[in-house]
Amino acid sequence: MSTTTDIKSTLKGTEFLLNETPQGQTYSSDDITEEHKMIKQTVDEFVNDKVLPIALRIDKQEEGLSSKLMDELGELGILSAHIPESYGGMHMDFISNTLIAEGMGAAGSLSVAYNAHTGIGMLPILYYGTEAQKQKYLPKLGSGEWKASYCLTEPSSGSDALSAKTRADMSEDGQSYILNGQKMWISNAGFANLFIVFAQVDGDKFTGFIVEREREGLTLGAEEDKLGIKGSSTRQVFFENVKIPKENLLGEIGKGHLIAFNVLNIGRYKLGVSCLGGSKRVAQESIKYAKERKQFKQPIANFGAIKFKLAEQKIKNYVLDASIYRLAGLMDNRINELSAEGMIYGDCKLKTAEEFALECSIIKVFGSEVLDYVCDEAVQVHGGMGYSEEGVVARAYRDSRINRIFEGTNEINRLLMLNLLFKKSMKGEFDLASKAMAVQTELMNGISLNDENEDYKFPIERKAIKSFKKVLFMLMGYAGQQAMSKELNLKEAQEPVMNISDIITDIFTAESLLLRVEKSDESEINNAILKTFFYDTAQRVYKNALDATGSIVDESMFGAFISSIKKLTKYPLQNTMKHRRLIADQLIK
Ligand SMILES: Cc1cc2nc3c(=O)[nH]c(=O)nc-3n(C[C@H](O)[C@H](O)[C@H](O)COP(=O)(O)OP(=O)(O)OC[C@H]3O[C@@H](n4cnc5c(N)ncnc54)[C@H](O)[C@@H]3O)c2cc1C
Repeated sequence: MSTTTDIKSTLKGTEFLLNETPQGQTYSSDDITEEHKMIKQTVDEFVNDKVLPIALRIDKQEEGLSSKLMDELGELGILSAHIPESYGGMHMDFISNTLIAEGMGAAGSLSVAYNAHTGIGMLPILYYGTEAQKQKYLPKLGSGEWKASYCLTEPSSGSDALSAKTRADMSEDGQSYILNGQKMWISNAGFANLFIVFAQVDGDKFTGFIVEREREGLTLGAEEDKLGIKGSSTRQVFFENVKIPKENLLGEIGKGHLIAFNVLNIGRYKLGVSCLGGSKRVAQESIKYAKERKQFKQPIANFGAIKFKLAEQKIKNYVLDASIYRLAGLMDNRINELSAEGMIYGDCKLKTAEEFALECSIIKVFGSEVLDYVCDEAVQVHGGMGYSEEGVVARAYRDSRINRIFEGTNEINRLLMLNLLFKKSMKGEFDLASKAMAVQTELMNGISLNDENEDYKFPIERKAIKSFKKVLFMLMGYAGQQAMSKELNLKEAQEPVMNISDIITDIFTAESLLLRVEKSDESEINNAILKTFFYDTAQRVYKNALDATGSIVDESMFGAFISSIKKLTKYPLQNTMKHRRLIADQLIK
């Protein structure tokens, strides 16, 4: 099956920063087809009927429970949604896979098992496997008969994954590799039948392998005692002279980093999407409780302080939703474009994920931080009940925290964002130079504010996005020049890099919101979400830009930078109380 979007946009990865997206040219979750709705309903029903009623039992890691639920997901075709039909899969489009990941995001710990299996566990074979490897493993993984896990992290190598010590040496007869070492924090390890393992061939060539569970010498550590996602299996995996047939080498010797990191692009996207599913559910719980709970003879939902929280949860979820489905539409289009050019399915997805690596990191960082915010405020809305394991929000709060740590910590992802743009710019794939030059000229002549274009539904916000991009190019241009003349070491100057990455995230998310609201009916609630988010975004961009300026710009230029940043981040003062109350009142209704 393949259900694609008709909304065409020619934007490729990172181009949102360079070009303006015309009004109406975005994909949003309002655009899903009837077929998409059926897929979403199947997942929602599974989560509501099969998973949530036994969430406590899953959290206690009742023997075989998660594995059995994964089998059921396999029977429903959910585990093979992204696998081509030739390997027994359902071959669904990118939007369908996004809807599934969002639905599964509400399933707590089980969503970690699902993501690890269908993402980082299965994709290395789909993208980098030989035909024989795909034929052998994908049907079993897609049906759920076999479960997969991904072994990259080691006790001494986490963020610095390429410094792994596990090694693989060719056996004397030249027919196998002998694996020795130890992996840590491996999701699904307790029930996985297959491990994607990264090891150093001859001690220094980072390489991927497919390792079957039953191999002699492969043993597991005890289940980790974790803060959250207690229902997901996380163990150490030990390899002691484990013999692996040489045909189980994945990709090329010494090219394991391509597998490890490219697969993580999709993994990060899926993680952000799961966060959306979890976050929407937790926000619903907040509304429900705020209406039921009475204090001072009235529902707590009547209080402005609580309305603020309900509204802010909605705003953040709405923006995350807009950002995710915009990106899903862009990636879906790109996959189809590459496929029409004759590229094979796995390669289309891989190349698309590589091209959109920046946006995938944005979704990971923003999604995980939205979920954390929403869960934290949900606990607060629930008061003491939020702190009790009897309710669902305490668990959600604990479960949420891991998302900022795995699939590349949020710090590493923020560092990657800017690094990626500078690398693309050096290769001539991202025209930073002319954008930065244009802003620099403006800076010298006094920055001009773009006129508001009345052809747009929301001219002020259109202008704001253009201005935020100017702030970004001003800072990136300066940082780039300083780095070239060795005045600045960008690897060392992490604090301003974080500031600039946050501006990039603000641009993508605010623009995604604007595009979605432009497309939708001009309801009062959408308008309130738009104005409130832009008001806050302008202040964040202002603060981050000033912080970066103070850290990297020469003092002689402070004046010019500060006055430009002030002008470019100016956004009309809003009655945010009125906006948020309007949003909250609609939710409460
Ligand atoms: C529950 C759970 C499940 C997991 N599942 C898997 C799995 O299935 N497969 C797998 O391979 N791994 C898995 N991991 C491992 C996970 O990906 C790592 O924990 C993560 O990459 C961080 O590595 P670390 O824990 O060694 O932290 P470290 O790398 O030691 O980082 C510690 C802190 O330092 C920061 N830091 C590190 N380097 C830098 C730098 N250069 N600049 C700035 N800050 C830096 C980090 O951002 C972090 O805040 C899992 C972890 C957990 C907890």
